[in-house]
Amino acid sequence: MAGNHEDSNVPRTPITGQNPGDVYVEVSHVGKIQIVDTNDRSPILKIINSVSPDKYIVDSYGYLIQDSNKKNILFNWSQEFSNRIKEGIRSNKPLYLAIDKNIPAYDFNNGILRYPEVKGGGGGITSYLRDSGLLFCYINGENSPDKVKMKDGTEQYYTPKDILIHEIIGHAIPRMLEINGNAVVNENIVRKEMKWKERADEISHTCFDFF
Ligand SMILES: [Zn+2]
Repeated sequence: MAGNHEDSNVPRTPITGQNPGDVYVEVSHVGKIQIVDTNDRSPILKIINSVSPDKYIVDSYGYLIQDSNKKNILFNWSQEFSNRIKEGIRSNKPLYLAIDKNIPAYDFNNGILRYPEVKGGGGGITSYLRDSGLLFCYINGENSPDKVKMKDGTEQYYTPKDILIHEIIGHAIPRMLEINGNAVVNENIVRKEMKWKERADEISHTCFDFF
């Protein structure tokens, strides 16, 4: 239901970055997936709608909602991807998606907010703020800096689409649902449905670490 979260009584808790006054998101809603790029939400939305057979739009806050009247006309699609998105929207945790290197992320090693080194994360990173239960997925909007090994023995650079799918399906949604597993196995369900090459197994690539 669009606009429902406007009525939320959850207190707003601004999170600040490294610089004073550098407020980047207001935590007022739960159970939603929000595209936080306020300048242009269309790149992430386009990626989602190029994989999902169900059409997603954003409300004026950037919250993802299914347009139940419409379907995407696609040559290949992944129902798994859409189903996971729906579960994420229904879950009790918020997820923020961005193509933006200038939004602070949680640094697990130092326990501080810092600007994410997205390049170090293979072009994308999922960050979980333990205190608030907030999840962020960032992609840098460029191909991966390193090639990814595929099941057939070849290697390829990952596009922003490949990267976002990995972060959402492999890491963020499992964390929202608290269902752990292997991020590459999850990703490959979508890649198989899309008729893309599957990624080579990475046994230790868990969806999330417990802490
Ligand atoms: Zn990963």
